[in-house]
Amino acid sequence: MDRITEQDVFKALENREMQVYYQPQYDTLTKGLRGAEALVRWFRSDGSLVMPGAFIPMLEESSAILALDWYMTERVCEFLDKQKKMGICQVPISINYSRRHVQEARFVEQLCEIADRYQVSHRLLIVEIMESVLEEKAEQVIALVKKVREAGFKVAIDDFGSGLSSLSFVKDISVDYLKIDRSLLSGNCEDEKERIVLESIFMFAHRLKWTTVAEGVETTEQFNFLKTCDCKLIQGYLFAKPMPEADYLQVCRDNSQETGNDYFWQLQETYGALNLLMEAVLMCYPLIIMVNLSRDSYYMMAYDNFSTKTVASAGTYEELIAGGAKSMHPEDRELFTHTFSVENQLAAIERGEKSVRVVTRQLGDDGIYRRIETTNYFVNNPYVDDVFAVTLSRSIEE
Ligand code: C2E
Ligand code: CA
Ligand code: CA
Repeated sequence: MDRITEQDVFKALENREMQVYYQPQYDTLTKGLRGAEALVRWFRSDGSLVMPGAFIPMLEESSAILALDWYMTERVCEFLDKQKKMGICQVPISINYSRRHVQEARFVEQLCEIADRYQVSHRLLIVEIMESVLEEKAEQVIALVKKVREAGFKVAIDDFGSGLSSLSFVKDISVDYLKIDRSLLSGNCEDEKERIVLESIFMFAHRLKWTTVAEGVETTEQFNFLKTCDCKLIQGYLFAKPMPEADYLQVCRDNSQETGNDYFWQLQETYGALNLLMEAVLMCYPLIIMVNLSRDSYYMMAYDNFSTKTVASAGTYEELIAGGAKSMHPEDRELFTHTFSVENQLAAIERGEKSVRVVTRQLGDDGIYRRIETTNYFVNNPYVDDVFAVTLSRSIEE
């Protein structure tokens, strides 16, 4: 094949040789269709197929990539309009946007203009941006993402875990989806370290209320492991390869015939049920702390606005007790520190006690003392011999 030039690509766009393929995304628990990613396929006039890997890197070197992405946006909107008119069930479609769009002054305006021209509801379009873009131009991207979401579109971080992956941006950005790169699944999830990395990614994403999507899922082993991580959506050859529009329409048709009692199955699944249970427990006990007494460490889960200003959300157990005591009434500090000292707790376990409880007065952000009940429940962890405690804390003021 001759070397592909930018001119070839522009001509191909003009002649509509570029087609949109759709790769479905399925709900991990119910297997229902939840979305699709639009991927470009170039069918040349001689009938040959050119995959994106053969020309996208070249387009990325200049602003030519912008033309392709806007062309894809236009084709997807055209499709969504047609699908709506056919009365077929619609799910959001993800479109890839190159890093170069960050420089476009009118990105959001152009997106609105195309969507509105085809009367496509903004919530049906997901803007995919690669994680690596954030490493380069974090501030600009954060501002752009905010604007895109304010206009009603969804945003996904693509290829998460593929790059140098600094987690520091996570606290500054709000998105809707996190797409976990397939390189993280490479070892079939058999490697312990690989599993730990994946589990922690899903944990933080879910706590930020981002919808997680695992990409490139090819085996049942990967799928089963992803289920245990509570990964929400699956995109990969195991369920479906990228397909032409007609085939994708059929997938959507088949999906509309589903019975729609998905939530019932979600509740039957341990992880779905656990999530709900967790919500309820946090309502009763707005502060939950997982403590490893053997390793002098803790990890905190706090309900939205529960005040935890005096202690960090993770650290050493000693710091936790010292920080906790600081927020108590001076007369209660001694009792608190003694009760929750490691020695006192180990002694309680030795005596066969299941928990340790105190009521203290704690200073709220409003300067008022409230009675707080703090209980440490001693629990066994089936995986390690360490001594664990779960702290449940709540205000007992009426
Ligand atoms: P991507 O955004 O990570 O898209 C997913 C790629 O993984 C697609 O490759 C898809 O076919 C492939 N894939 C999906 N499931 C599996 C699986 O189970 N196993 C394996 N081995 N691969 C799987 P594709 O279509 O070749 O696209 C490659 C890349 O090209 C995309 O990676 C995306 O970065 C880029 N691209 C595609 N279309 C566009 C576009 O319209 N605009 C821009 N800017 N980039 C695009
Ligand atoms: Ca993508
Ligand atoms: Ca990807």
